[in-house]
Amino acid sequence: MLRQLARSRALQQRAEKFLPGGVDSPVRAFRAVGGDPPFVVRGEGAYLEDADGNRYLDYFGSWGPMILGHAFPAAVEAVREAAAHSASFGASTPAEADLAELVIEAFPSIEKLRFVSSGTEATMSAIRLARGFTGRKYVIKFEGCYHGHADGLLVKAGSGVATFGIPGSAGVPEEIAHFTLALPFNDLSAVEAAFAAHPGEIACIIVEPVIGNAGCIPPAAGYLQALREITSRDGALLIFDEVMTGFRIAFGGAQQLYGIRPDMTTLGKIIGGGLPCGAFGGRADIMNQLAPLGPVYQAGTLSGNPLAMAAGIATVGHLRENQKQIYPQLEERSAAVAEGIAAEAAKAGVSIVTNRIGSMFTWFFTQAPVTDFTTAAASDTQRFAAFHRGMLDRGIWLPPSQFEAAFLSTAHTAGHVQETIRAAQEVFGVIATA
Ligand code: PMP
Repeated sequence: MLRQLARSRALQQRAEKFLPGGVDSPVRAFRAVGGDPPFVVRGEGAYLEDADGNRYLDYFGSWGPMILGHAFPAAVEAVREAAAHSASFGASTPAEADLAELVIEAFPSIEKLRFVSSGTEATMSAIRLARGFTGRKYVIKFEGCYHGHADGLLVKAGSGVATFGIPGSAGVPEEIAHFTLALPFNDLSAVEAAFAAHPGEIACIIVEPVIGNAGCIPPAAGYLQALREITSRDGALLIFDEVMTGFRIAFGGAQQLYGIRPDMTTLGKIIGGGLPCGAFGGRADIMNQLAPLGPVYQAGTLSGNPLAMAAGIATVGHLRENQKQIYPQLEERSAAVAEGIAAEAAKAGVSIVTNRIGSMFTWFFTQAPVTDFTTAAASDTQRFAAFHRGMLDRGIWLPPSQFEAAFLSTAHTAGHVQETIRAAQEVFGVIATA
């Protein structure tokens, strides 16, 4: 059961010579949970394999994109074929409109969209466009939501910012942070108060309609609808950041699940099938303000990259063709693993709160319901870390932070779910007495 990690440890030491913290994204460093981060050499279906030959059941799926599991054959083949025709042109290709059409069909609120290379670019560009369109400066976001690392959005953010307890990033001028109003999630009176304090000045609300970046936190009943009504009344735009929830909690994302039509939507992760890709889109009158049609500038050398388009078309196309089977199966297996582990915790006398929407879920090591960042932050992160390490030792790789959602893929079987619950039973037995 105990893993050999000699090669991963040596690779980490080598990486630290060249890369700050040995990583290209902070949460990969395992600082919050301790232990050695395994260095991954390959993935297949629901499994990851590290440099020492250990195999893990993957419950973070590259932080969301790998909904069809690793090395999904149709995506591998599509990328291989596209690469043979050259990795990039910097000129228009037919594949861009092919993927755009698939996305627009899934998200009826999107009339036009533009591809970029990451979720960060998508949200950053959407905010600029919202400001350009409305002529207003202020942006409302919610505590614990992460919208990428653009200056104005790193205020009371989730994900690694929450994991490492950073209130706001160094290097963001306060003059820029000033225009970001960070409010508690699920609290409509805070939103009403912000609009009352800044009449005609708020360009947009940007929200993760189901928070994933503080752990999974669903919206209260009627909350998203109220955000829709308040923004429409005021002339501010409503932006759903569906980088994580898009194609994840339903084919048409949170807006399909909750029946809301935002003005703009940001996407990432699944639309690129694991290749660097993001998109922002929405009402045509807003999108037509973008250069070359309008005065809002936004561009990208690798935007709409042929390999990313190929992987995206293969992934989204498969989801589209099989959505009637895929989403109910993800729901059923995710419920089984989320509730199965909750039951084991209860048997062992370990307090956890389980939040789940579809195949996005979190076990919070706390007692009170988790409805916003404050209640999430009440979690016992040391206990979470012990749980994480115990699971990893048993070949189950959960996201290495209490403030991140776990994901299931279509490659996870009922047998994998049982294996995961058995591992959790053992780990709870150990940490209950620790
Ligand atoms: N928005 C949300 C909701 C996200 O979850 C993320 C990434 N976790 C981002 C934006 C930023 O995306 P990227 O890491 O691709 O820049």
